[in-house]
Amino acid sequence: MEAERLSTLRAYNSPSQDARKDALPESRIPRVVIVGTGFVGSTTAYALMMSGMAAEIVLIDRDARRAEGQVNDLRDAEVFSHSTRVFVGDFSDCRSADITVITAGVSQAGQRSRIQSLSETGTIVHDLVSNVCRQEPRGILLLASNPVDALTYAVSKWSGLPANRVIGSGTSLDTSRFRRRLAARYGVASANVHAYVIGEHGDSQVPVLSSARVAGFPLDEFCDQVGQPCEENTFTGIASDTRTAGVDIIDAKGGTYYGIGAALVRIIRAILRDEDAILTVSSLVPQSMELGEVSLSLPSIVNRHGIARVLSVALNSSERKALEASAEVVRRQITTLAQTTPIPGFSGNGSPSKERIAALTKSTRANGERVTPNERWPGIPAWSRFKSNFTNPRHA
Ligand code: NAD
Repeated sequence: MEAERLSTLRAYNSPSQDARKDALPESRIPRVVIVGTGFVGSTTAYALMMSGMAAEIVLIDRDARRAEGQVNDLRDAEVFSHSTRVFVGDFSDCRSADITVITAGVSQAGQRSRIQSLSETGTIVHDLVSNVCRQEPRGILLLASNPVDALTYAVSKWSGLPANRVIGSGTSLDTSRFRRRLAARYGVASANVHAYVIGEHGDSQVPVLSSARVAGFPLDEFCDQVGQPCEENTFTGIASDTRTAGVDIIDAKGGTYYGIGAALVRIIRAILRDEDAILTVSSLVPQSMELGEVSLSLPSIVNRHGIARVLSVALNSSERKALEASAEVVRRQITTLAQTTPIPGFSGNGSPSKERIAALTKSTRANGERVTPNERWPGIPAWSRFKSNFTNPRHA
């Protein structure tokens, strides 16, 4: 029955030979695949459908019945929103997807922390990424499964994709929580608050107050302007509320999904619409940041190529120390994860060896000989070493 329905859908999705001649290239059809259709995946699919940005939303879950149910429920929203082809798919659909969003994992309901789910979600995500990469996807991998920073690092290595094409939702959600709280404190719209939470999406996250701005003014100057006290306690309270916001919501209702669903759709929008938007998303940290071998969130320019550039942030000395500590926390998670699911190229050190950096950055030796893929990516399976059609020189 399912096979029959799928073949009908595929026939519907595949134009006839004649129509194909005049059709736009397939890449013009915005397709987003969502793997994992639990709370986070289904909310993301719903928010995406309401946005009208995707022509096709493909859902994949190991629980096929759940995926089918989500598809039918989403289709019921079509008449009230946007025409969107929503269907249950398989990993072959990832090949032509602009974005494959990974939201599979274990729910945090029942008070599991992000870290408690590390090895279990690590195994799930490793298997999924293997399946996705066998299809030689040409799009972006966007990850929300927790702990998102350690997994973003691992997925980057497991997939063998260029660093710009593997993005974790990172602290995009924490940044929104922070901005909203600062905005409420000053009675202004959150759109007029520019402030970032960087580092780990977790307890070691770093709210950057030193460069926060309201309507372009540093916080102390804005306080003066509106005649409000500018007390450190207020800001530490806001930072602490931001850090515990997720746990508080899980305590109250067993999971978080509206915020992360909206954050994922914001990242999807930046990619599909080639926006060059600055978002705090997680990715492999460039060597120049001197934070070692790790993925975490820094403000990054996001466009159709994924991460176009990771930006450095002006930090005071305590914020810089906090960021280094946060990098260390994520590195420890990666080390733990690597014990159960090996991560090629991860040395576990603060920074990779000179030889490793040379191997990663050079494709030819001094004598002009080509460096073999095995030397460049030791341990990365052949299926994931396919040539990418885009490597971003700016993501150093
Ligand atoms: P959930 O239990 O509701 O959904 C998980 C889904 O993944 C289920 O439908 C399950 O069947 C599916 N799944 C598991 N293994 C799979 C596999 N191998 N292949 C395909 N599907 C598979 O959980 P949730 O609340 O939706 O959370 C999902 C993940 O998102 C968790 O890792 C959670 O920690 C994370 N999360 C991240 C953020 C963030 O800000 N990054 C916020 C909330 C939740």
